[in-house]
Amino acid sequence: MLARRRFIGLMAAALAPGLTIAPRVAGADTVPRIVATTGMIADAARALTGLPVTALIGPGMDPHGHRPTRNDILTLSRADLVLWHGLNLEAQFAKLMAGLSQNSPVLAVAETLPADLLLADPAYPDRPDPHIWFDPALWAQVSQAMEPTLAAFAPDVAARGTAYRAEVEAIASYAKTALDTIPAGSRLLVTAHDAFAYFGRAFGLEVEGVQGISTDSEAGLSRIAELVDLLVARQVPAVFVESSVSDRALRALIEGAAARGHTVRIGGELFSDAMGPDGSYEGTWVGMMDHNATSITRALGGTAPERGASGALAAHG
Ligand SMILES: [Zn+2]
Repeated sequence: MLARRRFIGLMAAALAPGLTIAPRVAGADTVPRIVATTGMIADAARALTGLPVTALIGPGMDPHGHRPTRNDILTLSRADLVLWHGLNLEAQFAKLMAGLSQNSPVLAVAETLPADLLLADPAYPDRPDPHIWFDPALWAQVSQAMEPTLAAFAPDVAARGTAYRAEVEAIASYAKTALDTIPAGSRLLVTAHDAFAYFGRAFGLEVEGVQGISTDSEAGLSRIAELVDLLVARQVPAVFVESSVSDRALRALIEGAAARGHTVRIGGELFSDAMGPDGSYEGTWVGMMDHNATSITRALGGTAPERGASGALAAHG
């Protein structure tokens, strides 16, 4: 019980408005504690600072539904800088972030984008679709918007930012070349949830998710039937599972299409709201884009090298 009481005390300290937590000034011998919610944000912050950055929502985890754990709250309350996505992605973190921002620097990185560049959530037209990391131009813009904040923690942020954006542009150019080879009739990307609208807009693909923008509701039978019709009518060869979302509804699609005499296969597992394993190529933003673009291209009948843009993708069995 003592530990619990201490924890509640810390939570209260972290969240109580008006209570001052002295900002930690990074000295020459201390590494600033930068904490990000998603792996994508942590990746950009690492690239821009050269510093270690903690990501709370790791591989396979779902930011829409993830509730801050006791460890998350402790880590956040001790951070020198907190970077989160915003735009209602980490919906369960909103209250916590509002509290933290009273005492320490907290930046909602995606909310730095001008509203006219955002897509709307089809189910709730007044809410933006948060999955902006799949449009390389928007992601580059977000990384640039992070620079003034990160410059307080590391030297050379501007130069590092320029180099990061060159990498972003290079993989975007590879992805465009690869995805452009998908035949016109197969340019339909069906995934577990609506994470890929920005990807579709950036690369000229039609996109359908079995579940909506958030992952909090099960797909209805009418939605499944609608997508089966589409897959059969267009003879789309593959649908895609996501590493952070259940694949149950996709199995229903495949069975539905099979009952109508059309074979649909799983075109691979895409990284949608979480990236690959920590320390792997797929665990970086560039590697995630490479993996997704390469998998989608190959499964939908286009041409791309099996190991991706630079041969760095893990081999598939
Ligand atoms: Zn999502």
